[in-house]
Amino acid sequence: MADQKQQYNLNKLQKRLRRNVGQAIADFNMIEEGDRIMVCLSGGKDSYTMLEILRNLQQSAPVNFSLIAVNLDQKQPGFPGHILPEYLASLGVEYRIVEEDTYSIVKDKIPEGKTTCSLCSRLRRGILYRTATEVGATRIALGHHRDDILQTLFLNMFFGGKLKGMPPKLMSDDGKHMVIRPLAYCREKDIERFAIARGYPIIPCNLCGSQPNLQRQVVGDMLRDWDKRYPGRLETLFRATQNIVPSHLNDGQLFDFVHLQTGSEVIDGGDLAFDRETIPAVPAGWLDELADEQQKLPPYRLDVVEVK
Ligand code: SF4
Repeated sequence: MADQKQQYNLNKLQKRLRRNVGQAIADFNMIEEGDRIMVCLSGGKDSYTMLEILRNLQQSAPVNFSLIAVNLDQKQPGFPGHILPEYLASLGVEYRIVEEDTYSIVKDKIPEGKTTCSLCSRLRRGILYRTATEVGATRIALGHHRDDILQTLFLNMFFGGKLKGMPPKLMSDDGKHMVIRPLAYCREKDIERFAIARGYPIIPCNLCGSQPNLQRQVVGDMLRDWDKRYPGRLETLFRATQNIVPSHLNDGQLFDFVHLQTGSEVIDGGDLAFDRETIPAVPAGWLDELADEQQKLPPYRLDVVEVK
């Protein structure tokens, strides 16, 4: 009985993830007929989930596309290089493992105690773009999800003085590829629960010995706390990123305040402040399906592959 219930919940979760991914793909025209998608696989919960859902959608999508999974082995000490090839071979997925010792380069160039992530990710990006060309990929799929996007938005606001998140689709820096984030509408907790249920062989992400970005962690904790205390708030926040009103912000590049004249049309509801009367009782991003599960999520625990 318990198994049946678990299976039912897993099916529900998978359906929701599929729906979210399908919707994001459609909204941003992420995938077109004949695309070859390079799925970047790190061995973390997000990229495993992305691969599974994309494979799943491949069966029913209105367009034909192919997938190739790519993992970059950066030669971090203790990286369990056999895990992903074994996993991918067992699925029968086309894949490529790229071995590049960026770990040594980063250790060599960055003084002890300084953060290594920015050089490391720059190197990784270059290698992934090159690999995309080599494998003939037209799309590069990254496993960032809704919560990553919100974290980036707040980090940019808090520290960068910019209202800027993480785009679901963008052109690569070299202008040759389209980078897509099919999980853009997926909640991290759904992905986490799905990954636990599927028992993916998770590879720990701290092999390089670098501390994770502390501020990202702090912002992540803030968002998780909000999510617990104010259900629906993250959904509402995300919706806000899709519902921008340039005339009611302060960026003269986005809205021509200089040439604004009296006598023209009232713009975007005029100057009604967002006062008490207009605050909706239910947050704009609230989904009924979230209500019953909000209280009873299992404790998050991913089985991480042990590295000796
Ligand atoms: S955590 Fe390590 S592997 Fe990840 S980007 Fe930073 S330096 Fe690179």
